[in-house]
Amino acid sequence: MPERKRLVAGNWKMNGLRADGISLARALAARAAEPHACDLLICPPATLLAAVGEALAGSAIALGGEDCHAAPSGAFTGSISAEMLKDAGCSHVILGHSERRQGCGESDADVRAKIAAAWRAGLVAILCVGETGAERAAGRAVEIVAAQLAGSIPTGSIPTGSIPTGSNADGADAARLIVAYEPIWAIGTGLVPTSADIVAIHAAIRGRIPAGTRILYGGSVNPKNAAEILALAEVDGALVGGASLKAEDFWAIARACR
Ligand code: PEP
Repeated sequence: MPERKRLVAGNWKMNGLRADGISLARALAARAAEPHACDLLICPPATLLAAVGEALAGSAIALGGEDCHAAPSGAFTGSISAEMLKDAGCSHVILGHSERRQGCGESDADVRAKIAAAWRAGLVAILCVGETGAERAAGRAVEIVAAQLAGSIPTGSIPTGSIPTGSNADGADAARLIVAYEPIWAIGTGLVPTSADIVAIHAAIRGRIPAGTRILYGGSVNPKNAAEILALAEVDGALVGGASLKAEDFWAIARACR
Protein backbone atom coordinates (compact mmCIF):
# COMPACT_ATOMS: atom_id res chain seq x y z
CA MET A 1 0.00 0.00 0.00
CA PRO A 2 1.58 3.35 -1.00
CA GLU A 3 2.14 5.84 1.82
CA ARG A 4 -0.68 8.34 2.27
CA LYS A 5 0.65 11.83 1.52
CA ARG A 6 -0.70 14.34 3.99
CA LEU A 7 -3.07 17.10 2.90
CA VAL A 8 -3.52 20.49 4.50
CA ALA A 9 -6.78 22.03 3.33
CA GLY A 10 -8.19 25.48 4.10
CA ASN A 11 -11.92 26.05 4.44
CA TRP A 12 -12.48 29.77 4.09
CA LYS A 13 -16.23 29.42 4.76
CA MET A 14 -18.21 32.65 4.12
CA ASN A 15 -15.15 34.89 4.39
CA GLY A 16 -13.37 37.11 1.95
CA LEU A 17 -14.12 39.79 -0.58
CA ARG A 18 -12.33 39.81 -3.90
CA ALA A 19 -9.31 41.87 -2.85
CA ASP A 20 -8.73 39.89 0.39
CA GLY A 21 -9.16 36.55 -1.34
CA ILE A 22 -6.79 37.36 -4.16
CA SER A 23 -4.13 38.70 -1.85
CA LEU A 24 -4.39 35.67 0.49
CA ALA A 25 -4.25 33.25 -2.45
CA ARG A 26 -1.25 35.07 -3.94
CA ALA A 27 0.58 35.00 -0.63
CA LEU A 28 -0.07 31.28 -0.28
CA ALA A 29 0.93 30.55 -3.87
CA ALA A 30 4.25 32.30 -3.22
CA ARG A 31 4.78 30.30 -0.03
CA ALA A 32 3.94 27.05 -1.77
CA ALA A 33 6.91 27.56 -4.07
CA GLU A 34 9.04 26.74 -1.01
CA PRO A 35 9.75 23.09 -0.22
CA HIS A 36 6.89 21.42 1.64
CA ALA A 37 5.94 17.87 2.44
CA CYS A 38 2.17 17.84 1.98
CA ASP A 39 -0.55 18.38 -0.59
CA LEU A 40 -2.26 21.76 -0.32
CA LEU A 41 -5.84 22.78 -1.03
CA ILE A 42 -7.89 25.89 -0.48
CA CYS A 43 -11.65 26.05 -0.60
CA PRO A 44 -12.86 29.65 -0.93
CA PRO A 45 -16.46 30.80 -1.20
CA ALA A 46 -17.98 30.28 -4.64
CA THR A 47 -17.81 33.98 -5.46
CA LEU A 48 -14.00 33.82 -5.26
CA LEU A 49 -13.37 30.57 -7.12
CA ALA A 50 -12.45 32.23 -10.42
CA ALA A 51 -10.22 34.91 -8.92
CA VAL A 52 -8.54 32.56 -6.44
CA GLY A 53 -8.12 29.92 -9.15
CA GLU A 54 -6.32 32.50 -11.27
CA ALA A 55 -4.07 33.51 -8.37
CA LEU A 56 -3.20 29.86 -7.71
CA ALA A 57 -2.58 28.94 -11.36
CA GLY A 58 0.74 27.18 -11.75
CA SER A 59 1.21 26.84 -7.98
CA ALA A 60 1.21 23.68 -5.89
CA ILE A 61 -2.15 24.56 -4.33
CA ALA A 62 -5.35 22.92 -5.53
CA LEU A 63 -8.76 24.61 -5.56
CA GLY A 64 -11.92 23.21 -3.97
CA GLY A 65 -15.54 24.08 -3.37
CA GLU A 66 -17.25 24.26 0.03
CA ASP A 67 -20.42 22.43 -1.00
CA CYS A 68 -22.37 21.39 -4.10
CA HIS A 69 -25.88 20.40 -5.11
CA ALA A 70 -26.59 16.77 -5.98
CA ALA A 71 -28.11 17.55 -9.39
CA PRO A 72 -25.95 18.43 -12.39
CA SER A 73 -28.10 21.43 -13.35
CA GLY A 74 -31.66 22.65 -13.07
CA ALA A 75 -34.11 24.85 -11.21
CA PHE A 76 -32.24 25.13 -7.91
CA THR A 77 -31.91 28.86 -7.34
CA GLY A 78 -28.77 29.77 -5.46
CA SER A 79 -27.16 26.34 -5.72
CA ILE A 80 -23.99 25.25 -7.46
CA SER A 81 -23.48 21.83 -9.05
CA ALA A 82 -20.41 19.63 -8.85
CA GLU A 83 -20.03 20.07 -12.60
CA MET A 84 -19.93 23.86 -12.13
CA LEU A 85 -17.20 23.49 -9.51
CA LYS A 86 -15.22 21.29 -11.87
CA ASP A 87 -15.73 23.82 -14.65
CA ALA A 88 -14.44 26.57 -12.32
CA GLY A 89 -11.19 24.67 -11.83
CA CYS A 90 -11.92 22.73 -8.65
CA SER A 91 -10.51 19.29 -7.98
CA HIS A 92 -12.12 18.79 -4.56
CA VAL A 93 -15.31 19.66 -2.69
CA ILE A 94 -16.05 19.68 1.04
CA LEU A 95 -19.31 17.86 1.79
CA GLY A 96 -21.30 17.23 4.94
CA HIS A 97 -19.60 19.96 6.95
CA SER A 98 -21.30 20.25 10.34
CA GLU A 99 -22.25 23.85 9.58
CA ARG A 100 -24.34 22.49 6.70
CA ARG A 101 -25.59 19.43 8.54
CA GLN A 102 -26.70 21.57 11.49
CA GLY A 103 -27.37 24.97 9.89
CA CYS A 104 -28.97 23.75 6.64
CA GLY A 105 -30.50 20.50 7.88
CA GLU A 106 -28.45 18.22 5.63
CA SER A 107 -28.97 14.53 6.33
CA ASP A 108 -26.60 11.66 5.66
CA ALA A 109 -28.74 10.82 2.61
CA ASP A 110 -28.27 14.38 1.28
CA VAL A 111 -24.53 14.12 1.82
CA ARG A 112 -24.44 10.73 0.11
CA ALA A 113 -26.18 12.16 -2.96
CA LYS A 114 -23.73 15.06 -3.04
CA ILE A 115 -20.73 12.74 -2.84
CA ALA A 116 -22.12 10.73 -5.74
CA ALA A 117 -22.51 14.03 -7.63
CA ALA A 118 -18.93 15.01 -6.85
CA TRP A 119 -17.67 11.69 -8.20
CA ARG A 120 -19.87 11.99 -11.28
CA ALA A 121 -18.22 15.35 -11.99
CA GLY A 122 -14.71 14.04 -11.35
CA LEU A 123 -14.17 15.76 -7.99
CA VAL A 124 -12.59 14.31 -4.87
CA ALA A 125 -15.15 14.47 -2.04
CA ILE A 126 -13.99 15.54 1.43
CA LEU A 127 -16.59 14.01 3.73
CA CYS A 128 -16.86 15.69 7.14
CA VAL A 129 -18.01 13.69 10.14
CA GLY A 130 -17.97 14.46 13.85
CA GLU A 131 -19.90 14.35 17.08
CA THR A 132 -21.36 17.12 19.25
CA GLY A 133 -20.02 17.83 22.72
CA ALA A 134 -23.07 16.16 24.28
CA GLU A 135 -22.58 13.05 22.16
CA ARG A 136 -18.92 12.85 23.20
CA ALA A 137 -19.82 13.36 26.86
CA ALA A 138 -22.29 10.49 26.55
CA GLY A 139 -19.56 8.21 25.18
CA ARG A 140 -21.20 8.08 21.74
CA ALA A 141 -18.49 9.65 19.55
CA VAL A 142 -17.55 6.46 17.68
CA GLU A 143 -21.18 5.44 17.28
CA ILE A 144 -22.12 8.84 15.79
CA VAL A 145 -19.17 8.98 13.42
CA ALA A 146 -19.71 5.37 12.34
CA ALA A 147 -23.35 6.11 11.53
CA GLN A 148 -22.37 9.20 9.52
CA LEU A 149 -19.84 7.19 7.54
CA ALA A 150 -22.29 4.37 6.89
CA GLY A 151 -25.00 6.80 5.81
CA SER A 152 -22.92 9.24 3.80
CA ILE A 153 -20.57 7.13 1.69
CA PRO A 154 -22.24 5.95 -1.51
CA THR A 155 -22.20 2.25 -2.24
CA GLY A 156 -22.61 0.48 -5.53
CA SER A 157 -21.01 1.34 -8.82
CA ILE A 158 -20.83 5.08 -9.36
CA PRO A 159 -19.09 6.57 -12.40
CA THR A 160 -15.99 8.52 -11.49
CA GLY A 161 -15.70 11.47 -13.88
CA SER A 162 -12.10 12.13 -14.71
CA ILE A 163 -10.46 11.04 -11.45
CA PRO A 164 -7.72 8.54 -12.21
CA THR A 165 -8.78 5.72 -9.92
CA GLY A 166 -8.72 2.00 -9.64
CA SER A 167 -11.61 -0.42 -9.56
CA ASN A 168 -14.62 0.98 -7.76
CA ALA A 169 -17.24 -1.63 -8.40
CA ASP A 170 -18.05 -1.66 -4.69
CA GLY A 171 -18.53 2.07 -4.39
CA ALA A 172 -16.02 4.43 -2.81
CA ASP A 173 -12.31 4.14 -3.18
CA ALA A 174 -9.35 6.02 -1.84
CA ALA A 175 -8.65 8.14 -4.92
CA ARG A 176 -11.93 9.99 -4.76
CA LEU A 177 -12.73 10.15 -1.07
CA ILE A 178 -11.12 11.93 1.88
CA VAL A 179 -12.67 11.82 5.34
CA ALA A 180 -12.32 14.79 7.70
CA TYR A 181 -12.96 14.04 11.37
CA GLU A 182 -14.24 17.32 12.79
CA PRO A 183 -15.66 17.14 16.30
CA ILE A 184 -18.32 19.84 16.27
CA TRP A 185 -17.39 21.09 19.71
CA ALA A 186 -13.84 21.74 18.50
CA ILE A 187 -14.74 23.81 15.44
CA GLY A 188 -13.92 27.47 15.94
CA THR A 189 -13.78 27.09 19.72
CA GLY A 190 -10.08 26.72 20.43
CA LEU A 191 -10.87 23.34 22.02
CA VAL A 192 -9.10 20.26 20.68
CA PRO A 193 -9.54 16.59 21.65
CA THR A 194 -6.66 14.89 23.40
CA SER A 195 -4.19 13.23 21.09
CA ALA A 196 -5.36 9.85 22.39
CA ASP A 197 -8.96 10.70 21.48
CA ILE A 198 -7.98 11.82 17.97
CA VAL A 199 -6.02 8.61 17.44
CA ALA A 200 -8.89 6.48 18.76
CA ILE A 201 -11.49 8.04 16.47
CA HIS A 202 -9.22 8.01 13.43
CA ALA A 203 -8.52 4.32 14.04
CA ALA A 204 -12.26 3.67 14.29
CA ILE A 205 -12.81 5.57 11.02
CA ARG A 206 -9.98 3.68 9.33
CA GLY A 207 -11.77 0.39 9.88
CA ARG A 208 -14.87 1.68 8.12
CA ILE A 209 -13.54 3.29 4.93
CA PRO A 210 -11.78 2.06 1.80
CA ALA A 211 -8.12 1.12 2.28
CA GLY A 212 -5.75 3.99 1.59
CA THR A 213 -8.33 6.77 2.15
CA ARG A 214 -6.84 9.83 3.82
CA ILE A 215 -8.31 10.93 7.15
CA LEU A 216 -7.86 14.60 8.08
CA TYR A 217 -8.37 16.08 11.52
CA GLY A 218 -10.26 19.38 11.71
CA GLY A 219 -11.23 21.59 14.64
CA SER A 220 -9.18 24.53 15.95
CA VAL A 221 -5.94 23.47 14.27
CA ASN A 222 -3.44 26.32 14.57
CA PRO A 223 0.30 26.87 14.21
CA LYS A 224 0.85 25.97 17.88
CA ASN A 225 -0.91 22.60 17.94
CA ALA A 226 -0.37 21.51 14.32
CA ALA A 227 2.92 19.66 14.78
CA GLU A 228 1.54 17.46 17.57
CA ILE A 229 -1.71 16.70 15.73
CA LEU A 230 -0.06 16.07 12.36
CA ALA A 231 2.44 13.67 13.93
CA LEU A 232 -0.31 11.36 15.23
CA ALA A 233 -0.84 7.93 13.76
CA GLU A 234 -3.71 7.86 11.27
CA VAL A 235 -3.80 11.66 10.91
CA ASP A 236 -3.22 12.26 7.22
CA GLY A 237 -3.54 16.01 7.32
CA ALA A 238 -5.75 18.83 8.54
CA LEU A 239 -8.88 20.67 7.51
CA VAL A 240 -8.33 24.19 8.75
CA GLY A 241 -10.97 26.88 9.18
CA GLY A 242 -10.05 30.09 11.00
CA ALA A 243 -6.29 29.67 10.68
CA SER A 244 -6.57 29.26 6.91
CA LEU A 245 -7.52 32.93 6.60
CA LYS A 246 -4.01 34.09 7.50
CA ALA A 247 -1.25 33.13 5.07
CA GLU A 248 1.39 32.89 7.80
CA ASP A 249 -0.76 30.63 9.97
CA PHE A 250 -1.86 28.35 7.15
CA TRP A 251 1.70 28.05 5.94
CA ALA A 252 2.97 27.31 9.45
CA ILE A 253 0.45 24.44 9.65
CA ALA A 254 1.54 23.13 6.25
CA ARG A 255 5.17 23.32 7.38
CA ALA A 256 4.30 21.23 10.42
CA CYS A 257 3.96 18.24 8.06
CA ARG A 258 7.49 16.91 8.13
C1 PEP B 1 -13.86 23.84 9.96
O1 PEP B 1 -14.88 24.50 10.09
O2 PEP B 1 -13.75 23.02 9.04
C2 PEP B 1 -12.78 24.07 10.92
C3 PEP B 1 -11.94 23.11 11.11
O3 PEP B 1 -12.78 25.29 11.57
P1 PEP B 1 -11.69 25.81 12.65
O4 PEP B 1 -10.32 25.39 12.17
O5 PEP B 1 -11.87 27.29 12.66
O6 PEP B 1 -12.03 25.15 13.93
